[in-house]
Amino acid sequence: MDPNHEILFEPVRIGPKTLRNRFYQVPHCSGFGTEKPWTQAAHRGVKAEGGWAAVSTEYAPFSPDSDEAPLIAARFWDEDDMRALRLMTDAAHEYGALAGLELYHGGAHIANNQTRVPAVAPSQLASDLEAHVVPKEMEAGDIERVQRLWAEGAVRGRDCGFDIVYVYGAHAYLPMQFLSPFYNKRTDGYGGALKDRARFWLETLEVVRDGVGADCAIASRIAVDALGPAGIHLDEALEFIHLADDLVDLWDVNVGSIAFWSKDSGTSRYFEEGYQLEWTGGIREATAKPIVGVGRLTTPDRMASIVRGGAWDLIGAARPSIADPFLPQKIAEGRTDEIRECTGSNVCIMKVDGFGHLGCIQNATAGEEHRRGWHPERFSVASNAGKGVLVVGAGPAGMECAVTLGRRGFEAVHVVEASSEIGGRMRWIRRLPTLGDWGRIVDHRRVMLSKLRNVEVVTGRRLSAEGVRDYGAQIVIVATGSHWSGEGVQSSTHEPIDGASASLPYVLVPEQVMGGKRPAGPRVVVYDAEGYFVGPGIAELIAKEGFAVDLVTSLDVVSPISDLTLEGPMLRQHLHGAGVTMHRGVTILAIEPGRVSGEDEFGEPWATDTDGVVLVTQQVSDDALYRELVADRSALEAAGIEAVYRIGDCVAPRMISEAIFDGHRIAREIDGPDPAVALAFDRERHVPDIDPVPTR
Ligand code: ADP
Repeated sequence: MDPNHEILFEPVRIGPKTLRNRFYQVPHCSGFGTEKPWTQAAHRGVKAEGGWAAVSTEYAPFSPDSDEAPLIAARFWDEDDMRALRLMTDAAHEYGALAGLELYHGGAHIANNQTRVPAVAPSQLASDLEAHVVPKEMEAGDIERVQRLWAEGAVRGRDCGFDIVYVYGAHAYLPMQFLSPFYNKRTDGYGGALKDRARFWLETLEVVRDGVGADCAIASRIAVDALGPAGIHLDEALEFIHLADDLVDLWDVNVGSIAFWSKDSGTSRYFEEGYQLEWTGGIREATAKPIVGVGRLTTPDRMASIVRGGAWDLIGAARPSIADPFLPQKIAEGRTDEIRECTGSNVCIMKVDGFGHLGCIQNATAGEEHRRGWHPERFSVASNAGKGVLVVGAGPAGMECAVTLGRRGFEAVHVVEASSEIGGRMRWIRRLPTLGDWGRIVDHRRVMLSKLRNVEVVTGRRLSAEGVRDYGAQIVIVATGSHWSGEGVQSSTHEPIDGASASLPYVLVPEQVMGGKRPAGPRVVVYDAEGYFVGPGIAELIAKEGFAVDLVTSLDVVSPISDLTLEGPMLRQHLHGAGVTMHRGVTILAIEPGRVSGEDEFGEPWATDTDGVVLVTQQVSDDALYRELVADRSALEAAGIEAVYRIGDCVAPRMISEAIFDGHRIAREIDGPDPAVALAFDRERHVPDIDPVPTR
């Protein structure tokens, strides 16, 4: 270990418990909750194994008036839930970590759509997060009930093995709603001056302490500045921390509110590593207790300097722990170059909140630890490891596949890439404005490829079908990617745009823009029918070069996918700031020199004069090599090739995370019955043991 990093491995006492080092996995959503107990246990357990001193659940509601279903929380209502999370506490303890339970009440923001009870809050004010939610103003009995349930939840938590129980107020949930004059307009003893607004939170801490006694550490999570209208600013947060300090064993600090979660889970596009220190770096003056902070930290030198400087005692992480569950161990063993650094893309959040199951752009095993049995650092030797494998193309899919095959012990894996550099589409994506940190996808794999003696990377060689057959491999995996349609084929018409061809000087595709092609005049239309980062990225890039840019999208909003990653509002603000004019709901149907035309969302004609148009409509697989190879089975046989597979965009152009997953999956299953088809995974269904099946 680098001696500079030794400070990160000092134990830290939090109340009655001791953390073995300073790495703390703060609570984060997963989509597992108490619904997928084995997945939950395996995901947190792998982090415990990787060296984190504590692993925490996601938000754990204990009361039916705080129920966000169908979003999946660690509902912690009864003994069944205890049994579910016991698997997680056991997994944490098996590897020497403490387990934290983030007990939570969402107050005003919770629609309770399935439990069908009203939201409760300090005052009857419409939620600034959820449309059409107006809460009941809590009566004295509601306050007593919620506090009692909180304490009972903490006791159940203790009894199923949790070492740390939370009074979670951050993200403008119930305790912070009481603390904030934005939510709290009460005139009884729970509203008014700060000490009265603090009363609910303080009393809750007291009843939780009375409940668990000295058996658990009590953590409280607080946003020290809401960075929006939610009402809490640093001065009052410091005052509250000072007031509550005797009741708390650990302060878990962050910024933002749930309506401005984008400022807490800040993406790399708009927030630097450690950005939260601007607010959370100054709370030491208010507390004598340990502090854990976050800020997408992945750099050990930075972590050590934060601790050494006294700002925080513990380095908190959600996203960096998902990207690399073994981050602490890699630092401990001096293998910092192997850290799989979080890209800050918030694909994890898209996966949890949008698709109901955690995943990661960088770490293909995240969320797959139990259901597919994938461990991030352990790989079985493939039963066909003696075969030579050729991977054609070193984009995200090819790189990940080669690394994983290498780790599965194949004697000879060759990755052959046409370009002079590995990375595939990442070569140009990382050069788009604000997307530099996404380059970590390539950087990490470059390091891993260089360390694997059984993997050889060949660049600057484009393979033909004949070249593949002559190569000498027995297994061929084609990962040749995709390209943007130069004719503007798009989802709304399934036809080329009239007059579109990327061979014309005034029609461009993203790869050409990134290769230097520009229109002859100053006006450019970027036409985005895809809806994620490429259209806005190109628009910002060329706007900054001085072009007058119209970003036209056929979709209802500019970049709807960015809303799933919490980036949408900032992205649109950013484009506005860069001088890009945005047009929504417009379908471009024809391109001619000097002009594009089509129709708006109401079917009315729409046109604008322009010197060029960049088409970001859809991608098309580069599958010609694959098709040529599989078309001639006897030639493959004559060449000694036993199998040809394809992965990534060459199969279907998808998100980067899915190309990486695809590359990883085929390598994990390369010795399975049919590697072309993914094996079934465990869905953790609750299958009733009832016969006959009830009819209603
Ligand atoms: P994916 O995301 O599926 O990995 P990319 O488009 O990012 O796809 O990467 C595909 C890579 O394959 C590119 O770097 C491209 O240069 C390379 N490639 C495409 N065709 C060939 C070929 N015939 N021989 C070698 N490399 C190729």
